[in-house]
Amino acid sequence: MTHTTVGSTVYYCPMHRSIRSDGPGYCPDCGMALQPKGARFGLLRHIFSNPMHVAVMIALMVAIMAVAMVW
Ligand SMILES: [Zn+2]
Repeated sequence: MTHTTVGSTVYYCPMHRSIRSDGPGYCPDCGMALQPKGARFGLLRHIFSNPMHVAVMIALMVAIMAVAMVW
């Protein structure tokens, strides 16, 4: 398998979705660093890549729901 996604990554400004680039750079409008498409869900993907993280997140949600019910 030689399939690769390198070179097809689109970078965009977090504040201006219309600003896009084929590579890393800065937004001409606000000067923010452009982020690769999909970076927004990187953390979520990271959390679900580790079962321990999911367990901690579920425990946290159950704890918050329990507190909400008590009140
Ligand atoms: Zn911008």
